[in-house]
Amino acid sequence: MAVGVLSVQGAVREHLEALASLGVEARPVRTPQEIAASNALIIPGGESTTIGKLMARYGLLQPVRDLVAAGKPLMGTCAGMILMAKNIQNSAADQPSLTLMGITVQRNAFGRQVESFETDIEVKGIDGRPVRAVFIRAPIITAVNGDVEVLATHQGRIVAARQRNMLALAFHPELTDDSRVHEYFVKMG
Ligand code: GLN
Repeated sequence: MAVGVLSVQGAVREHLEALASLGVEARPVRTPQEIAASNALIIPGGESTTIGKLMARYGLLQPVRDLVAAGKPLMGTCAGMILMAKNIQNSAADQPSLTLMGITVQRNAFGRQVESFETDIEVKGIDGRPVRAVFIRAPIITAVNGDVEVLATHQGRIVAARQRNMLALAFHPELTDDSRVHEYFVKMG
């Protein structure tokens, strides 16, 4: 299966490398046609307002919604998770978003004092040792609706969730050499 990594802004190369380490075909995508030709899609971390505006400008929002409607897996990490959420707290008023997943997210939820940190967390569906999670100016999920399943929490705050073929993570699994989250995602297809 060919996994597309949305390549308009943000941490693209690390996701491509994580997928390559699993032997999964992966490529950067930045056009509606390339998104439509993907069997699964990752929206990386970066700056969600910038990514959203570029997606709107290049006509990429609807192709991603169509991919999800077709049952193909979508994973968003950090800024990508923000863009998937139906509700975004403290977002710029003109922030374009996919409005796909029944979660409410709060941007930059760990505040200025703790911009970045790493910790081990248990992720439902990933067996064995805990997952090393890298948080960078990370959002959290403050509410889940409908058939959203919480997969991980950190200090009581929701940092990973799944709704059918959509996977949202507040942290960056692509920044460690543990590819089990990517493996979990690929198996959703
Ligand atoms: N703070 C960023 C935002 O709100 C997300 C940070 C990240 O993706 N590492 O868009």
